[in-house]
Amino acid sequence: MADLSALPSVDRVLNTAASQPAIAEHGRQEVTAAIREVLAEARAARSPVDAEGVATRASEKLARRARSNLRPLFNLTGTVLHTNLGRAQLAEAAIEAATRAMRDAVALEFELETGKRGERDDHLRGLLRELTGAEDATVVNNNAAAVLIALNTLGAGRDAIVSRGELIEIGGAFRMPDIMARAGVRLVEVGTTNRTHPKDYRGALGPETGLVLKVHTSNYRIEGFTKEVQGAELAAIAHEAKVPLLNDLGSGTLVDLSRWGLIKEPTVREAVAEGADLVTFSGDKLLGGPQAGFIVGRKDLIAAINRNPMKRALRLDKIRLAALEATLALYRDPDRLAARLPTLRMLTRGEAEIEAQVRRLLPQVAALLPPDVTAEAAPCRSQIGSGALPTETLPSFAIRLSAPRGRDLEALQAAFRALPAPIIGRVQEGALFLDLRCLSDEPGFLASLAAHGLA
Ligand SMILES: *Cc1c(COP(=O)(O)O)cnc(C)c1O
Repeated sequence: MADLSALPSVDRVLNTAASQPAIAEHGRQEVTAAIREVLAEARAARSPVDAEGVATRASEKLARRARSNLRPLFNLTGTVLHTNLGRAQLAEAAIEAATRAMRDAVALEFELETGKRGERDDHLRGLLRELTGAEDATVVNNNAAAVLIALNTLGAGRDAIVSRGELIEIGGAFRMPDIMARAGVRLVEVGTTNRTHPKDYRGALGPETGLVLKVHTSNYRIEGFTKEVQGAELAAIAHEAKVPLLNDLGSGTLVDLSRWGLIKEPTVREAVAEGADLVTFSGDKLLGGPQAGFIVGRKDLIAAINRNPMKRALRLDKIRLAALEATLALYRDPDRLAARLPTLRMLTRGEAEIEAQVRRLLPQVAALLPPDVTAEAAPCRSQIGSGALPTETLPSFAIRLSAPRGRDLEALQAAFRALPAPIIGRVQEGALFLDLRCLSDEPGFLASLAAHGLA
């Protein structure tokens, strides 16, 4: 049996040279606690260890603990707007604006011209009106909140008419019927799953109707024998009955994406022009900004939303408002948008460009991998993600990693997740695909692979 009386004292470990950098970084108290933990483990395992060894293990423990799980990672899943990986990466202009707003005081609710109290939404109002053609605009925490407060404001205690084909679940517990219930509106479903006609809406409209709701079925497509009442016709039906139409666009976009060869999503401007009284959409999907929910439309309805006490609970802070303002401002110059907005830049990268990147990096990556892992260039398909354009994929290229039978791809993925800057790929056809569509920091990627000594 090992001689446990030989375990060093806490003081001896604290005084070793190996402990000094940890003390400088984490403080004496933290290091002392970590040393106690390591000594307790050594005692329990009955394994003798010297003072330097305890110091090293305690330092490693503290370094692991200090590493944030929110540290930047490489999203090589091929899904550009990955909800679980934080959706849109912001434009440099937005990052700078947010950083400045974090560090300093800003005129959040203060009019610099008059010195009077201002409104926090005023910073975005003008830009949103200009970019969407709407009369007025307001902004809340996310699009789920935008839908919640819009429904509550227009229809609390009354009926909201919606097609059975549009009662969506987005994921993360966002189900339209549940949100409607929480907003205090009565759900009146019309039509069938695949077909809803104008007469279905007309038959349901009555004195109890608070609004008609249209939902962009962003994360699925109903194909085949289908019928949907389009925005303009539905607006006319709602207005005949003197009730407002709320159109939840989900992702929504401020520009026609077909300009960059992507499939056209409905733009917010079109939804407004079709006659929707309110339109809601997300800040961090195709728009490429921070998490937020926009509501644009009729001035009187926006004013009513701003008076709703829920607004106070759902409002944005100065950091996100600053980032949103800078993001929206980029849309004033569509010619340079793809160069400045990371989301659009990634979505519009061509297959040939990504293939060239894969072939260029392949030898360096292969050299950093365990010897039994094979790395090859392989075509793949990227997805837009966040429910936008669900059936459209983009041709892309990947580093395809395969291992001999018996070697667990799980273990390789786990090793990638434990890297200083984790690398997240996608398992497909028994191989791990690293789709390079979203890789811009190549030196950082190689350094992360090298730091760990996977090979
Ligand atoms: C994504 C989405 C939402 C929710 O938006 P968040 O910004 O994620 O809160 C609501 N409605 C539709 C149609 C969506 O696609």
